[in-house]
Amino acid sequence: MNLSYSICKQAQPLISFTGGLNTNSLNFHNRKDKVVVVMGATGTGKSRLSIDLATHFQAEIINSDKIQVYKGLDIVTNKVTEEECRGIPHHLLGIKDPDADYNATNFRHDALLAIESIIEQDKLPIIAGGSNSFIESLVNDDPYFASRYDCCFLWVDLSLPILQRFVSERVDQMVEAGLLEEVRGVFDPEANYTQGIRRAIGVPEFDSFLRAEGKNTDQEILDTLLHLAIDEVKENTWKLACRQLQKIHRLRDFWGWNLHHIDATEVFLKQGEDAHEAWKRLIVGPSVMTVAQFLYR
Ligand code: ATP
Repeated sequence: MNLSYSICKQAQPLISFTGGLNTNSLNFHNRKDKVVVVMGATGTGKSRLSIDLATHFQAEIINSDKIQVYKGLDIVTNKVTEEECRGIPHHLLGIKDPDADYNATNFRHDALLAIESIIEQDKLPIIAGGSNSFIESLVNDDPYFASRYDCCFLWVDLSLPILQRFVSERVDQMVEAGLLEEVRGVFDPEANYTQGIRRAIGVPEFDSFLRAEGKNTDQEILDTLLHLAIDEVKENTWKLACRQLQKIHRLRDFWGWNLHHIDATEVFLKQGEDAHEAWKRLIVGPSVMTVAQFLYR
């Protein structure tokens, strides 16, 4: 990797608020390279914000969701679609064999390679995803990372009742979008749910239903099992969100991470064009400012 490379080259802004700052004039050899990290509970809009940021700065995204790293189950794991990516390259997304093990050590190794390849292209790495144990392991446990990179942490947050309602509605939307067909596709009565992609919330919950379905069970019983499974997915998604929030609080309060808190509650209270406008005004605008200050301070 080119060590003379610096942040000043890595993110040429496409926005005008830098006032024509000549970034190359700040190209000191002793400055650390910069990395943006977008955190938040499931359903808060991390992926959307990271893509929005990547369209303002020349950036590429590194997925830090331990389940989205696997190939397949795109609906269940809520992966961004090609259309949502808006041409922004994503790393570590849907790349691993569904049965493979993938742990924090693997992530650290792969994320560092991705970060360096992005920086070599004079671009900004944005890490985005809900697996806080992966992010923590990279930032806290890797002496190389700590010596080489400065991080800007953005935390997208929502009021809890709004988040709970949203994740519950999202499960219904996933079911409408074909979640059950996806899970049927990976169902294997012999497989266990402790390895690979089958750990995903939305897979083990359908086990009883799918076993019953394979045995010509009465339709009324099948309907009941299906409803129970969907309710369990909602409950487990909500528990995941709560655990993710606890971990984020611990990273801030115990480890002293400087998290820039972005409250998206107002956006989620709006619909359609109003929500879109509020997202740009309340989330994207302040986040772009925070990142710009981090890059050009
Ligand atoms: P933990 O140490 O509890 O595993 P973590 O921060 O390492 O926490 P999380 O991202 O919180 O990892 O994931 C915990 C569990 O939540 C996963 O093992 C999986 O069951 C589920 N999960 C996480 N992300 C997704 C996803 N995108 N789709 C479905 N389930 C997910």
